[in-house]
Amino acid sequence: MLDLKHVSKTYKNGVNALYDVNLKIDQGEFVYIIGPTGSGKSTLIKLLDGEEIPTKGKVEVTGINVGKLKHSKVPLYRRNIGVVFQDFRLLERKTVFENIAFALEVINVPKERIRKRVREVMNLVGLDDKGSSFPQELSGGQQQRVAIARAIANKPKILIADEPTGNLDPQKSDEIMTLLEKINREEKTTILMVTHDITLVNKHRKRTIALEAGHIVADMNEGGYIKHD
Ligand code: ADP
Ligand code: ADP
Repeated sequence: MLDLKHVSKTYKNGVNALYDVNLKIDQGEFVYIIGPTGSGKSTLIKLLDGEEIPTKGKVEVTGINVGKLKHSKVPLYRRNIGVVFQDFRLLERKTVFENIAFALEVINVPKERIRKRVREVMNLVGLDDKGSSFPQELSGGQQQRVAIARAIANKPKILIADEPTGNLDPQKSDEIMTLLEKINREEKTTILMVTHDITLVNKHRKRTIALEAGHIVADMNEGGYIKHD
């Protein structure tokens, strides 16, 4: 599903954000990416979604050499990837239904299909009755559910969750984890979750990749316990 070979990324200012990273992730895996600020997590995500190209090495996602994609092909490629952020990034003037539908409208899904799929994902994330609510009328946990529903609406092969619980209290974080696990299981979506939440990583054990100064310093199956620093 995802194959990085000898990937390095040096920005124009000379910063080595990633150095000789080798990483394979199979279809259907649920993987945490952890590491301190500046360790290269965002850069890794940007290489995966085609925002940045590697300075060296090869980034292959679903058989596509992402670093070699023409600019014009990037939007189509991105349909393979759903992204969820810490700050939700919902459209405040659109309802929950419209926020989710919009993701499908922009890729020209027929209206009837959109209606059906939006209802389906609203049900999946447990927000059946919130279709006509606006984001600001919802709790943080509910807003993140909407963002997740939107991200998976077009059935991407990979879901990247960038600190999805960063703005949520422990109980809401736990609920979001349970939801992501359900999506991983039921929709067969490969999930990459960037997180600082070591409590969560220790509780919901999964393969955990640790970055430090642009290097993968650990790749642990089912987590193992990680110490708080
Ligand atoms: P994060 O919260 O993921 O650690 P940062 O606050 O480090 O993000 O960075 C925010 C944005 O600024 C990111 O898109 C990152 O790629 C970019 N960025 C970080 N450091 C620099 C830099 N030295 N020069 C230019 N852009 C940077
Ligand atoms: P993280 O997401 O783990 O905080 P980043 O990938 O954002 O790490 O950053 C890794 C390193 O690359 C940092 O030293 C950061 O300042 C630098 N960096 C990130 N984005 C840019 C950019 N656009 N231009 C220059 N340096 C950057």
